[in-house]
This record gives sequence, structure tokens and C-alpha cells, in this order.
Amino acid sequence: MKKIVVLAKQVPDTANVTVDAMKSDGTVNRAALPAIFNPEDLNALEMALSIKDKLGADVIVITMGPPKAVEILKHSLYMGADRIMLITDRKFAAADTLATSYVLAETIKRIGNVDLVLAGRQAIDGDTAQVGPQVADKIAFNQITYVSALKEITDDYLVVERDGDVQTEVMKTGYPVLLTVTTEANTHRYPNCRKMLQFFRADLKDNFNETDRLLAAENGWIIPTYTLEDLELDEDRCGLKGSPTRVHKIKSIMLKGGDLKMYGTDATDIKHLVRDIMKDYVEVN
Ligand SMILES: Cc1cc2nc3c(=O)[nH]c(=O)nc-3n(C[C@H](O)[C@H](O)[C@H](O)COP(=O)(O)OP(=O)(O)OC[C@H]3O[C@@H](n4cnc5c(N)ncnc54)[C@H](O)[C@@H]3O)c2cc1C
Repeated sequence: MKKIVVLAKQVPDTANVTVDAMKSDGTVNRAALPAIFNPEDLNALEMALSIKDKLGADVIVITMGPPKAVEILKHSLYMGADRIMLITDRKFAAADTLATSYVLAETIKRIGNVDLVLAGRQAIDGDTAQVGPQVADKIAFNQITYVSALKEITDDYLVVERDGDVQTEVMKTGYPVLLTVTTEANTHRYPNCRKMLQFFRADLKDNFNETDRLLAAENGWIIPTYTLEDLELDEDRCGLKGSPTRVHKIKSIMLKGGDLKMYGTDATDIKHLVRDIMKDYVEVN
């Protein structure tokens, strides 16, 4: 049975950006944007669950984020994850990719004996696509990025397709390995009704009163949380302290379309295209 870790991030829904999406200091106004499961992380989770369906696996979803990120962890349980971990601490705030990958890598090392780590290719807010590769480096796993299809999987190896701009590569690898997954890789499943009923009350420990807490523990409703201290992390490598990146300035740029003229592909249109190019761009003496 494989032990699979899925890295999942809760992100602001950048497809629904409103005028107050950015604060005057250039930081993201998260309160103004709905928070969603990073789309490609759903594909990573689907890949983990499909491997579980085929080979049997222990699927652990981990996220580093604020308490609100329990929403994506609950969603992971609804989809079929076996375990979830919320890594949360004020000291993790303002982490760049270096600090984020440090925390995630140390968590994976603590879990131990992990065969496969699956991450989204890219988060739709930070957009760097660096976290997966940096985690792989820190845990000394091989990595394949931009995975667009899982072609074959056995207990000993897996074969994937990796999408490039001009070609698709087919790659075979043994374990352990980290893959970053794109939206083309699969169509993720819907939450399972039975699991929704089982876990809809899942929450952070402090959100249960004392009477309910016992019942919650018995039913697996308490979301396991881990702080910097729990994971025995080096504070200097976490959050703002551990992040050399600084975003100095963010500008809102409105792109204005110029005049648009469409040409067809028949002889007359091509003639018109050449005529217009000659008229506007070619000097005839
Ligand atoms: C406007 C803006 C600009 C930024 N610019 C930079 C920059 O230039 N350099 C920089 O280092 N940081 C930058 N950041 C910070 C960056 O968003 C964070 O470091 C972030 O936590 C991780 O980077 P990412 O979002 O680019 O993730 P990506 O590298 O795009 O994420 C890839 C995958 O890694 C996993 N993953 C990422 N974050 C987490 C998490 N918290 N928990 C679990 N899994 C995760 C997910 O599977 C995700 O799909 C910027 C943030 C903003 C808002």
C-alpha cells in the first residue's frame, strides 16, 4: 500500500476579482475574494484517490494556511482522503516559496516513509510554480513537473506524460517521487454524499464546546492542527523571517484593446490584408 501526500492550498478565487481585491499597501485583500481549493490541487488529489482505488493507498492531504483553510481539508475528506493536516501558526504568515516549501518538506519528513508526493503545478494566487520543485529538493525526491496524464502505475514504478510547450514527454520513474499535476491530468470527482454526512461537523478543536469535544474526537471530527512548535521547526526559516522575497509594488494595469480588424482566409480577404499592411506600414517612394 502506498503512502501518498497531497499538497493543497486554499487560494482567493482570482476568476472573481473585484475592484477591492488589492489593499492600498499592495497586499491581497483576502476578505474581498471567495476562498477556493486551488484548482490543480484538486487534480493532484484526484490522482492520489485514483491510485488508492487501484493499488490501495493512505492519502494524506496537508495544507499550510490560516484556520479558514479547514474548508479545503473537509472537502478533501468528502472526496475520500484518509487523513488531513492543517499546518497553521501566525509565525507562518507572509511566507514566500522558500519558507512555504521548508515547512511542507519538514512535515513530509515527519510523516515518514512517503512514496509519492502530489502537488498542483501552480497556485492561482502566488503563481510561481516553485513550491513543488522546492519541496522535492528539500526531501531529496526525484520530481516530474507538469504531469498531464498518469499512464500506468504499479507498486514498483509509474509512467506519466509531461506536457511541454512543443512536445509531450513520456517518463517512467520508481518511488519515492514528487509530481506536479496540471488540469489536463484528470477530471476530479465530486464529494461523496456519505462522506459529507460523516464529516460535515468536522472543525478545529477549539470550535467544539467541552461536551461536544468528546463526541467529536470519537467521530474523527477534530481537524488535526500543527504549529511551528509541534513540528519543531526553525523559526528563522518560517514566515516573513524566513522569506527573502519582498513584493515592493503592485500595479493595476488595465489593458486596452486597439482597433481589431478580422480577415478571413479567402483570396479577397488576403488581398485586403496585404493592402492594409502596405498602406499602414510600408513606405513606397
Ligand atoms: C502578488 C503576490 C506575489 C508573490 N510573489 C512571490 C515571489 O515573487 N516569490 C515568492 O517566493 N513568493 C511570492 N509570493 C508568495 C507566494 O504566494 C507564497 O510563497 C505561497 O505560499 C507559495 O507560492 P505559490 O502560491 O506561488 O505556490 P506555487 O509554487 O504556485 O504552488 C504549487 C503547488 O504547491 C503546493 N502549495 C503551495 N503553497 C502551499 C501551501 N501553503 N500549503 C500546501 N501546499 C501548497 C500546491 O500543491 C500548489 O498547487 C507572492 C504572493 C503574492 C500574493
